[in-house]
Amino acid sequence: MILGLGIPELVIILVVVLVIFGPKNLPKIGSALGKTVKNVREGMEGEDEKIESAASDAAAAADDAVEVVEDDDDADVDEAPAASDDKFCGHCGAKNPAGNAFCSSCGEKLS
Ligand SMILES: [Zn+2]
Repeated sequence: MILGLGIPELVIILVVVLVIFGPKNLPKIGSALGKTVKNVREGMEGEDEKIESAASDAAAAADDAVEVVEDDDDADVDEAPAASDDKFCGHCGAKNPAGNAFCSSCGEKLS
């Protein structure tokens, strides 16, 4: 008896496992469990590596933040030419869209 389970209970559990995972997957389950145990042990031994990795991740994140700021500058530059395309009427000074041939305010021909 193991943990209060008898042979019939163990057989039922084994059958349920076989039904759920299939007999072909049993070796995979075993190797997955083995990898999990190995990863846990390596994780306990490799704490310093994790800290270094986290530090480099933070540096990369900072670089990304700088790139975002640079992208914002580019957006401002893109907006400036669009604004300069507007024509100001030489007669009344009204601002007109670049496509306008005549002033929308006074009708004067735009140069
Ligand atoms: Zn005008």
